[in-house]
Amino acid sequence: MKKAKFIPWKSKNLFSIIILFFILSGISIFSQNVSLPVQQAGSIQHPASLPVRQAGSIKNWVLVIHGGAGGTIGQKMAEDVQLQYTTKMTEVLKAGAAILSEGGTSLDAVETCIRMMEDSPLFNAGKGAVFNEEGKNEMDASIMEGRTLKAGAVAGVTTIRNPISAARAVMEKSKHVMLIDGGAEKFAKNQGLEIVPPSYFYTKKRWDEFQKIHYQEMYHKPDSVKNHGTVGAVALDSHGDLAAGTSTGGMTNKMKGRIGDSPIIGAGTYANNNTCAISCTGHGEYFIRNVVAYDVSARMEYKRQNLQEAAGDVVNVKLKSQGAEGGLIAIDRNGNIAMPFNTAMMFRGSIHPDGKIEVKIY
Ligand code: ASP
Repeated sequence: MKKAKFIPWKSKNLFSIIILFFILSGISIFSQNVSLPVQQAGSIQHPASLPVRQAGSIKNWVLVIHGGAGGTIGQKMAEDVQLQYTTKMTEVLKAGAAILSEGGTSLDAVETCIRMMEDSPLFNAGKGAVFNEEGKNEMDASIMEGRTLKAGAVAGVTTIRNPISAARAVMEKSKHVMLIDGGAEKFAKNQGLEIVPPSYFYTKKRWDEFQKIHYQEMYHKPDSVKNHGTVGAVALDSHGDLAAGTSTGGMTNKMKGRIGDSPIIGAGTYANNNTCAISCTGHGEYFIRNVVAYDVSARMEYKRQNLQEAAGDVVNVKLKSQGAEGGLIAIDRNGNIAMPFNTAMMFRGSIHPDGKIEVKIY
């Protein structure tokens, strides 16, 4: 049989070539549009809702802090008390921003901000921590680095001036993630961290709150004083790295030895460069049972929700439906922020590279 010769300029063949050209160029355009970002070995796939970030392309940092959620609907703190909180939070945000604007790490900014709030008697962390049922201060803290997924935590500590720094030391200087009680204190001392007598943490305000709640609970009266608080910070640095930290005295009149969500990675704190950084505040038992911080990250990773949707659904739908009070602060890997809460108020604030500071209570 005579073979058909391929002569391109013959009209039939030319038509086939043109069709073929359009098909091939269509495939290449299409494949550019749907291609997923190049994955590092072992890294997770980026949520589709987040634009792909090229390494090193982020120049902008972001910092968000909280000083606890709670309050009673319809009741507001006195103006001068509100001012004390907003002034302190502004100072904290500026200190964190000074680190981030110089190219410092999100981990340093988070630790610095939390130390400042631990040193302030205004917040339920460090000095100003609430009292347990025995009239003692037992504190919990944790920190996590989004780039490496490394984390550190301490729980039930009574003599470490800055529990967040002890949590960071556990992360960086030990082979463990969490140390508790005397073991954590011994480790912190060996690391050169400041150890103080338990009386350092006393404040009259917390003692009076404790007396009131202790009395109410003894007689099974309803809890009219909201007995929680906590501090936290999340940051994205100019290298594109996320970090999160949380520190607390827990809940007033808690049982001796009770540990809340704050030192539990995935419950009160979580950071992952592929999704977001989260720090929670609220009724810890619910936050543990719902693995709240990780739930926000998992929703972004698996359900492809964006940060606002993921954080909002967890706090205002899931937790609320269970009667769980609280809120969280969050930053995603592109610098978007969310600060949902389902309580009357949450001390919260953010700062951006243009110097824009927002500090809110209600
Ligand atoms: N989540 C903390 C705890 O349960 C308390 C709080 O944030 O208000 O220990």
